[in-house]
Amino acid sequence: MDRLLSFSKDYRKFAVTVAVGLLALVPVMISADFDNTASRWLIISWASFVGILLFIDMIKTLRSGSYGVDLLAITAIGACLAVGQHWAALIIVLMLTGGETLEDFATRRARRELAELLSRAPQIAHRLEGDQVVDVAVPEVQIDDVVLVKPHEVVPVDGILLSSGAELDESSLTGESLPVQKKTGDKVMSGALVGDAAIKIRATADAAHSQYEQIIALVREAESQPAPFVRLADRYAVPFTLASYAIAGAAWALSGEAVRFAAVLVVASPCPLILAAPIALISGMSRASRHGIIVKSGAVLEKLAAVNVFAFDKTGTLTHGNLEVTHVEPHGGLSEEDMLSLVASAEAGSSHVLAASLVSHAKRRQVEIQPAKNLHEVPGHGVSATVGTHEVLAGRAGFLENNGVEGYDASLITQGSTAIFVAIDNQFAGAVYFADQFREESRSTLEDLKRLKITKTVMLTGDRADTADKIAREVGIDEVYAELLPADKVRVVRSISGRDASVAFVGDGVNDAPVLATSDVGIAMGAHGSTAASESADAVIMLDDLSRVVLLRQISVRTIRVALQSVWFGIALCLVLAVIAAFGFIPPLVGAGLQELIDVAVIFNALRAHRSGRGTIERRTSPGAAAGNLSGTWHQKA
Ligand code: ADP
Ligand code: MG
Repeated sequence: MDRLLSFSKDYRKFAVTVAVGLLALVPVMISADFDNTASRWLIISWASFVGILLFIDMIKTLRSGSYGVDLLAITAIGACLAVGQHWAALIIVLMLTGGETLEDFATRRARRELAELLSRAPQIAHRLEGDQVVDVAVPEVQIDDVVLVKPHEVVPVDGILLSSGAELDESSLTGESLPVQKKTGDKVMSGALVGDAAIKIRATADAAHSQYEQIIALVREAESQPAPFVRLADRYAVPFTLASYAIAGAAWALSGEAVRFAAVLVVASPCPLILAAPIALISGMSRASRHGIIVKSGAVLEKLAAVNVFAFDKTGTLTHGNLEVTHVEPHGGLSEEDMLSLVASAEAGSSHVLAASLVSHAKRRQVEIQPAKNLHEVPGHGVSATVGTHEVLAGRAGFLENNGVEGYDASLITQGSTAIFVAIDNQFAGAVYFADQFREESRSTLEDLKRLKITKTVMLTGDRADTADKIAREVGIDEVYAELLPADKVRVVRSISGRDASVAFVGDGVNDAPVLATSDVGIAMGAHGSTAASESADAVIMLDDLSRVVLLRQISVRTIRVALQSVWFGIALCLVLAVIAAFGFIPPLVGAGLQELIDVAVIFNALRAHRSGRGTIERRTSPGAAAGNLSGTWHQKA
């Protein structure tokens, strides 16, 4: 099968086959003899050459341990030549090379969006130096540089908007087709397209760490995956090949006519089997990418269609990526300001959602953020750092206890809200509390998943049980596992996933990276999430919209349905024709023509995976969507 995919890139073979066919027609016309020697030898030479190439490739694939349906095609060519049906042999070659050219076309079409993404990557940034605008290469832009982005240019690096307002088209990043309104101080993502007015931004990341570069890296990774489509069709290859040989052999034995053997194999040569699955999968991946979801390989769609349990991380996934600090509660003499300053300084280097929210809160309150030394983060636990002359620890309660902090007392703690606990110089110093608001779309996402035959939804969180239970009740989660460390998340998913459960995990944090990698399907929330999460996930949702999970599930189910339908339709037609041919009603030449028709039908059917089916829950984008708030609502399409 790998063979066919590599073979397919070589559409010159198809061109040569057509040329050979036309050339072979010339002597036919001159001599008025369909079976003249010149044509026959021309066709025999080319068909044998292709047959031998196929054979060599088949041996290679066999050695790698996979079976394809190539043997049928090769014996069909051989049998046709042996019984003097060289024109039929040529049509099989035409069908093989033509089918693969079609597949090539479909692949290209599907990947066009991805290629566009790459080609739009900006090369030059206009940096403001004093009152001068200097053009520099994008990689030279540094954090805190002020960059001018001219109308209809692509934002080169992530930044904060300095201009008073902007209209940005983020469709290539998020699939959101409506322009997004931004105001001063809003985050601007690299890769967004600027509207009619130029904007100024302050860079918050260099190019390599900007959103766009990360998307490009993800897409490259997805593209470099070896064709994973093999499995879907290969499952049917061996029984199908055996059945075809049995019918062909029986026809020959009972009729005593070798031409029947050839006729059966000609109609049974199953291009649809080979092509339908890859075409459907590539089309499904491309459809997902149009909606801001990067699926890293076709096999992911297949696995996701089979998932029946969905597990979610809480903080940043079921709840908002931006949390509000509700109050700062120092214990032991420190002022609120001072404590906030120390914690924010330590957290400034962390990518955790709580850390990011805390730091922006501190900046808004204009407390000092000092440079921290010896910065260390333990994923899922917290951070430690030296700030000025103080040792700061910030994280979960257990993290402080593990580090031998003194003076911690659980009775001092406000129950039921998400918090960062703080120790300064090994003394418990208080806590910062957050309002952990569930996303508007969380509840409907869970309901929609249930409608899509998901039997159970689970929450896996590092947060405390009381907080977790509260959110779970509010959004409608079936089962809650709280106070988990990164390794515990892996353990819980493993214990759920088993004989009759297949688990998809949706998460965003560094602490989710291990479980994203080990669950049956890992889905990362990429908008605020950590790079580590996106890297270890199988699919990344680029938009800050949890409901895309539902769409992804629907795309998977439909893609696999279309793929299997095409495969079965192809197999059934081939077998019916094989039986008819066995009784001598289909001469090889006619059979080859019919087979070609089946191929085209099956390929066009597989391409339907590119579109949405009936009953799809499509996302409604409200024209008045608030600035920067891209989350929409769902409705059932009639
Ligand atoms: P979730 O699994 O719900 O995303 P996490 O495991 O990321 O939650 O975090 C659980 C708890 O661990 C948080 O509520 C917080 O108290 C603490 N924590 C983890 N990482 C950090 C960090 N970098 N800074 C502060 N606290 C942290
Ligand atoms: Mg999280």
